[in-house]
Amino acid sequence: TARHAYRGRFAPSPTGPLHFGSLVAAVGSYLEAKTRGGEWLLRMEDVDQPRCSMAAADEILRVLEVCGLAWDGEVVWQSRRTEAYAAALERLKAAGRVFPCGCTRRELADSAIAPDGAAIYPGTCRAGLPAGREARAWRLRVGDARIGFDDAIQGRIVSDLAGEAGDFILLRADGLFAYQLAVVVDDADAGITHVVRGADLLASTSRQIFLQQCLGAPTPGYAHLPVVVNASGEKLSKQTRAAPVDISRPGLALFAALEFLGQRPPRELSGATVAEIWAWARANWQLVRVPRGPARAGSVQNAGQ
Ligand code: GLU
Repeated sequence: TARHAYRGRFAPSPTGPLHFGSLVAAVGSYLEAKTRGGEWLLRMEDVDQPRCSMAAADEILRVLEVCGLAWDGEVVWQSRRTEAYAAALERLKAAGRVFPCGCTRRELADSAIAPDGAAIYPGTCRAGLPAGREARAWRLRVGDARIGFDDAIQGRIVSDLAGEAGDFILLRADGLFAYQLAVVVDDADAGITHVVRGADLLASTSRQIFLQQCLGAPTPGYAHLPVVVNASGEKLSKQTRAAPVDISRPGLALFAALEFLGQRPPRELSGATVAEIWAWARANWQLVRVPRGPARAGSVQNAGQ
């Protein structure tokens, strides 16, 4: 596939309604793509099917439409891409990059914990399944790989995969492909050149870059946006019961996202139409203004809730 000069994407997981943190990721990735003359693709990350719902996906599409976030091309659904993930896993098997693992969750309960909360695999099945064991999952061998990349917002990031993630799962015990594999295969197949997303995913990026290298896929540019936190300092999510974006006033929500992203929209724009806001945003967007660190949503957004 020919590589477009700039092809970005927004990749929400339809596990619940779109909250302000996801809107920030949508707005940031959209503006960066559009102001660089690029395309902005949409992918529904419903690979973890038990946690996703069609109603949530429909609701996300509706919010994006109401907010004037028009995507290019067809929506890609991860739930329809199983064959592509299986083919990638077969290539990794043929190259000896993965191994079957028979460990249960309970057996891994005493393992060291990675910064993102996952168990760091102690290596039990790395040299072969112990006698009498059956494969439950497939894991990628990380060896002593060190991954470094320059994030356009967060700066230089270096990580030691063995210490931070360990041999991570690509095919889960429940038969579903893991998020890390799906993202890498999808970004490569779609010809994504730039990934702009929340910094909560920073811990996944080194794993994804390593996986790209194992599959011979290009590494896109990365820009990780600041995480939106609530009054208790927790990331907005379904688990922390973040409020859905209020689409009765889409202009206000977009204004708040621009303000959060450090773009300093003029005050009077908070009462403007969606079209007026995009006209201002496309003329004024500057990635260098985006702050690095986690922050609470501004007063306008709070007032709007
Ligand atoms: N689906 C992920 C999420 O909603 C985002 C994945 C990505 O942007 O790479 O957190």
